[in-house]
Amino acid sequence: MPSSPAHPSAIRWAAAAGAILALAGCSATAPVAQTQSPVATPAQPSVTLAQPSVTLAQPSTTSSRTPTATATSKPSPTKTSTAPPTDRRTAAQRNRPFTVKGIPVVSKKHPINASYRRSSVTSPYGLTQETQLALTRMIVAARAKGVRLLVRSGYRSYSLQAQILSSKIREYGSETLARRYNAAPGRSEHQTGLAVDLWDGVTWGVGVRATKAGKWLWANAWRYGFILRYPNGKEKITGYAFEPWHYRYIGTKAAKAFGANSNLTLEEYLGIA
Ligand SMILES: [Zn+2]
Repeated sequence: MPSSPAHPSAIRWAAAAGAILALAGCSATAPVAQTQSPVATPAQPSVTLAQPSVTLAQPSTTSSRTPTATATSKPSPTKTSTAPPTDRRTAAQRNRPFTVKGIPVVSKKHPINASYRRSSVTSPYGLTQETQLALTRMIVAARAKGVRLLVRSGYRSYSLQAQILSSKIREYGSETLARRYNAAPGRSEHQTGLAVDLWDGVTWGVGVRATKAGKWLWANAWRYGFILRYPNGKEKITGYAFEPWHYRYIGTKAAKAFGANSNLTLEEYLGIA
């Protein structure tokens, strides 16, 4: 339970995160989301035009990130099957993420630089198109089960991440503690547009785990291609403390290997733990 001592900090984080979101212009995120139904419905229209055609193809096929799917069937004729993949990118090459089996990995060990640009950006959360589509499906499905899911944070830029970390270090008075929950720039999945922080609009912090939203997500997010990215007790592997709110999109086929209520990490799944 390495995360328990930091619980209170998560709460402080929440308060500050709200402020930061406002700074970042992500402020629309939380307030807009508060209204629940507007979350998925009105937010989509702007993007909808481009998406419908793709939507149909993706849920089952996971076309754009298909290599993901191949992970299970292990198509790569490379040596990948035995030797663990190694991140050989130079600093200059970090404008692209370290990718294993078609799945981009951004972490403390595998950073991206400020030149990294995500593709197919959508609004209002800055997620990639595929991630946003999956998120919308998930939010709608949750709502049908009486579960309210709100987006607390989607895309965050390199510079915003830098601001967040330095303000957290000041706030906690401990750089070590701040870094357990807050990524340094280039080391946050939020910069990829593939990750999203979700909650019920009421309970934030580690308490998310016990909420209806948190429970539903842990049991069902995989169906929509999302995984709990920082499971409890896996800090040594992921580099981050337990975050029951942080979900990472990896595509439905890969997420199937995780399944319901899984504590498997992406690193373990990809053989890079
Ligand atoms: Zn997050």
